[in-house]
Amino acid sequence: MSGKRGFTLIELLVVIAIIAILAAILFPVFAKAREKARQSSCLSNIKQIATAMLMYVQDYDEEFPDKYWGSTSRYEWPNGAISRGMWIPSIYPYVKNIQVFQCPSNPYRWKGQYIGNGFSYPINNYIDGYLLSDIRYPAECVMNICGWYYWSSGANNYESSGGNPPGGPSVKKWHNDGTNVAFVDGHGKWMKYQNIWRGNSRWQNDPVWGGGSEANRKYWTRDGK
Ligand SMILES: [Zn+2]
Repeated sequence: MSGKRGFTLIELLVVIAIIAILAAILFPVFAKAREKARQSSCLSNIKQIATAMLMYVQDYDEEFPDKYWGSTSRYEWPNGAISRGMWIPSIYPYVKNIQVFQCPSNPYRWKGQYIGNGFSYPINNYIDGYLLSDIRYPAECVMNICGWYYWSSGANNYESSGGNPPGGPSVKKWHNDGTNVAFVDGHGKWMKYQNIWRGNSRWQNDPVWGGGSEANRKYWTRDGK
């Protein structure tokens, strides 16, 4: 036997096994850290949206913007695309940055056209048409929430841009089993998914697409309107 020897096969296998075990332990941690970063950038988005919403509301006799379409309001985007009765065009002049409407964890990306899929912060289905003073519990009433959102427009065809995300507007738990929520008083925070429904008995339905529950309306508005 010479004085110089290499590693035996067993030694190499042991080293490889140790590296594999370390990788298996660390990779989920890295994934979680990355998701945590996206979660805080999403929270910053939704807080900017909340501020813009409140500025809009102050400028329009305290009335919340229209949620989807069907009204006579009309907005022309910088590229000439037309939207009707949409809350995003309504508050866009206060934000002037379309990226703010996109959660980095939303698997549907905005494709660059002003009418299209990929936006992320649906408005509470129930505050449309109400006044700020109608809201009974502003610090507990959801204004916007992170989830699916898709565009619809009278004049522009969104189907051509690749179809709708499944299920239409709804809350999603992309952020470490929770989601970011902005409230009518302007504050925003991350909440565990289950707590959105059960932690607070005022939210018994999806605030975005809950089907117009009377129970929700009663709690969320001043006179139960
Ligand atoms: Zn998000």
